[in-house]
Amino acid sequence: MSETSSQDRIIQLHQLLNQYNHQYYVLDQPTVPDAEYDRLMRELIALENKYPKLKSIDSPSQRVGGEALKVFSQVTHQLPMLSLDNVFSAQEWQSFVTRISDRLGTSNNIEFCAEPKLDGLAVSLRYEQGVFVQAATRGDGSVGENITENVRTIKSIPLRLSGEDYPEVIEVRGEVFMPKASFEKLNATAIAKNEKTFANPRNAAAGSLRQLDSKITAKRNLAFYAYGLGYVEHQQSTEKAQQWLAKSHYQRLCQLKTLGFAMCPEVKLLKSTEQVDSFYRDILAKRDQLSYEIDGTVFKVDSIEQQKRLGFVARAPRWATAYKFPAQEELTLLQGVEFQV
Ligand code: NAD
Repeated sequence: MSETSSQDRIIQLHQLLNQYNHQYYVLDQPTVPDAEYDRLMRELIALENKYPKLKSIDSPSQRVGGEALKVFSQVTHQLPMLSLDNVFSAQEWQSFVTRISDRLGTSNNIEFCAEPKLDGLAVSLRYEQGVFVQAATRGDGSVGENITENVRTIKSIPLRLSGEDYPEVIEVRGEVFMPKASFEKLNATAIAKNEKTFANPRNAAAGSLRQLDSKITAKRNLAFYAYGLGYVEHQQSTEKAQQWLAKSHYQRLCQLKTLGFAMCPEVKLLKSTEQVDSFYRDILAKRDQLSYEIDGTVFKVDSIEQQKRLGFVARAPRWATAYKFPAQEELTLLQGVEFQV
């Protein structure tokens, strides 16, 4: 494709992706399947890589998610909540490993924390002196929605941390999701009442979390798995609390467990990159038996020191990638609209 026709196509892709983002993140009403969205995004990234000067800072490829709904008060994240880059094949995975090994200047093995990619909604939970004080959605990565009262109704989220030694301020990040059984029950009830059904558990979780009445959220049986940390502060806290933060991502998740958070039971520390393929295959084989929806796996460089050296790009950390599953259905029925992928 010539540069001129690529430019036209890029403009078209911006319009389409911005529209789909709005429907998905702001209205919670996607109109195309994720596979179609992913395909368009990859086409855009390929064109931008081919013609770097056509990559603008407001390109959908450079942005995280959607904007925060104005009906909620807004929360500015002290540390941004980013997205994840994706790989879809063993070859792309290998390029990812080569890229980070080169940046780290190492030919040694890199350890990874391997996690299922939960299909829900990213939230950041803030605790001050061990007490839950605020919950926010990711929003556009810098500003999210204040959903504290709704999150307070989720039973697997501690309102007070266990134990005594933890930083004065700690932000726990993870995924709020709707277990498959709750999703099926919710839709069955909606059908019986002749009401609108939800397209999938992610969509149901997003709709349930962004309710103006937290009594509705309370009835939706949402759950939470922690997968990381945000801002942490320990100026006045004890020496023990200051030494609290482990140097390994996996160990940090274990620490969050001791504070009372649920961690996805499938999470594993992989001692070598050879184990990545079998983790991916195991989780893919188990997918239907899991009680929650996933759409891939996530691999994160385990060493925090290496994570810091790798840093971030505009919308995602360099030290992690999602390894997504192939699209489940070629023909999807979404909110009563059938379309071909
Ligand atoms: P993403 O879903 O590809 O990856 C980032 C998100 O993964 C995080 O924000 C977090 O919520 C989640 N996540 C799940 N498990 C995790 C774990 N173990 N560790 C860290 N994060 C984990 O990125 P995104 O920016 O949220 O969304 C992009 C995707 O959303 C697209 O690839 C597409 O599939 C879908 N989408 C679809 C439409 C549509 O119209 N159908 C529109 C926009 C986006």
